[in-house]
Amino acid sequence: MISSEFALVETIRRLAGKARAPVALGIGDDCAVIDVRPGEVLLHTTDCLVEGVHFRREYFAAIDIGLKAVAVNLSDIAAMGGRPVAFLLTLVIPGRARDGRGNDTIQETGRDDERYLLDIVRGAIACGRKFGCQLAGGNVSSTRGDGLIVDVSMIGAAKKGCVLRRSGARPGDVVLVSGHPGQSSAGLALLNDSRLTTHDSRLRTASSIQHPASSLRAAHLRPQPMLALGRSLAERGLATACIDTSDGLVQDLGHICGESGVGAEIDAAKIPISRALRRLCSESRKDPLEFALGGGEDYGLLFTVTEKDFPKVRRLKSPVPITSIGRITRSRKVRITGCDDLRTSGFDHLK
Ligand SMILES: [Mg+2]
Repeated sequence: MISSEFALVETIRRLAGKARAPVALGIGDDCAVIDVRPGEVLLHTTDCLVEGVHFRREYFAAIDIGLKAVAVNLSDIAAMGGRPVAFLLTLVIPGRARDGRGNDTIQETGRDDERYLLDIVRGAIACGRKFGCQLAGGNVSSTRGDGLIVDVSMIGAAKKGCVLRRSGARPGDVVLVSGHPGQSSAGLALLNDSRLTTHDSRLRTASSIQHPASSLRAAHLRPQPMLALGRSLAERGLATACIDTSDGLVQDLGHICGESGVGAEIDAAKIPISRALRRLCSESRKDPLEFALGGGEDYGLLFTVTEKDFPKVRRLKSPVPITSIGRITRSRKVRITGCDDLRTSGFDHLK
């Protein structure tokens, strides 16, 4: 049962804790106040998770919903080479906004008890803390629809002149990707497909070793933003263009090419496929490239570097592999060589 909007906000305020520098004023006023340092620019991004579109409660723990809502925003800060500073969190809760007398009370919906919502907030705060940013404010509202909305607005900062953009790729540049693309969409397929899940659990009981499918599910439920890599690329001036892979590798590369006025040629044989994805696909007779080229929500970095700087990227320390997968071309098209006709359209919210 949710007592009232204000009681909920007060609890969230306690969970967020006291404002710490560079946040000068956190929850409790009309705006958050953040100290800006000279020589820096602010990065501001927003993204939300909508129940039924981005998550289903059957397979998403409340704490992971909060964690992912913050992680996807951190990924956008990583894509620009910034460091996260603070975020605002808005919860739009299914239920009536006002009672019959116009009081500002959020009615219990039978599904959204306060504990569930506060677990989402706890996940969001924990993810922020892990990457050095704090909850500085937000909003609580309600909807007549039946899906919960968890909206995050993230503020980051970057050194002036050290911001990565999508628009700087030039013909001849090397195209690189971090991590193993396709993990998240394969994980989502496992979570959604009871046939695959049954198959997986049968395998799991047959062996005490953790099935690789759990790493695929984790990639979807708990993505890791590539903040350290983004900052390394930005501060060393290595990447000519950069984007985070949220819509699918081919589609995201299309965004770089569109903004840069260039094309790209990707060698399918060079796409790094994880052992877990390979195994899932051999068991379910699917093509791992369909996940790796078209699957969204990986939140790795896709970037370009000049031929000259390529050896420096190879020397970067990174917790995940960084793989060269192709070249930027003049053609203004993204071409994939070494594979048959694939459905690689990526994710579009409006389709
Ligand atoms: Mg992005």
